[in-house]
Amino acid sequence: MADTQHLKDLVTQVRRDIVRQVHAVSSGHPGGSLGCTEFLVTLYNEVMDHDPSFNMDGINEDLFFLSNGHISPVFYSVLARAGYFPVSELSTFRKLNTRLQGHPTTHEGLPGVRIASGSLGQGMSVAIGAAQVKKLNGDDKTVFTLHGDGELQEGQIWEAAMYASANKVDNLISTIDVNGQQIDGSTEQVLALGDLRNKFEAFGWDVITVQKGNDVDAIITGMKEAMNLTRKGKPVCILLHTEMGNGIDFMMGSHAWHGIAPNDEQLAEALRQNPETLGDY
Ligand SMILES: [Mg+2]
Repeated sequence: MADTQHLKDLVTQVRRDIVRQVHAVSSGHPGGSLGCTEFLVTLYNEVMDHDPSFNMDGINEDLFFLSNGHISPVFYSVLARAGYFPVSELSTFRKLNTRLQGHPTTHEGLPGVRIASGSLGQGMSVAIGAAQVKKLNGDDKTVFTLHGDGELQEGQIWEAAMYASANKVDNLISTIDVNGQQIDGSTEQVLALGDLRNKFEAFGWDVITVQKGNDVDAIITGMKEAMNLTRKGKPVCILLHTEMGNGIDFMMGSHAWHGIAPNDEQLAEALRQNPETLGDY
């Protein structure tokens, strides 16, 4: 197993960035951001072949589309710390005229953002279009997406899933953040999702389950497995089991921190649990 300490250090720093961003403006979505930190850190620093100098077309690069745009705090932190824009710009999160809108948008021109997202259910459709364009252009790179599990209650997801398998979009890896929570409660209570593996397989996808979705080593293993399944005629789905609020004990175990910011005392405790590793912005 390769040494992944540098990724774990980055995870801790990104957690600090997340809670500091939302605390500064008393708004935003820390829970899902924290749950997906290990995934996005691993994706951008270990898996994807991408260029932080950024151009919108992304020809001959792997592409990522964040469909559950409300977890923008983790997305912005990972992009900044990968070199897409200055880390200091994280201090502008959700402020007037910022490029770091509460939900990512494209018209502010923030490097790394290729779609507006936040209105749930749309990212897979966009990613399928990008993946098909890559095939038409003879570009052999891969397109990645991330979705919340609650987002799967959107009908457009299943239209896209059906289209992707029927058209053999096999250069697409869509990851579902299976944390069992959404803004109003558990997914089981709000609208039960049933057996997601059976559902995606019935829609013609290959499916991988990563049980330890907050463990960078397990994520690397799962992503390698997923990459090996691409270009075999089917789109690939990763069911990534995570904990909402991971890494901050009082934010874990419920949906409570989906969309609220910590107060001063809670921020101090969250930071105490995640000591600075790479320097705060
Ligand atoms: Mg969820």
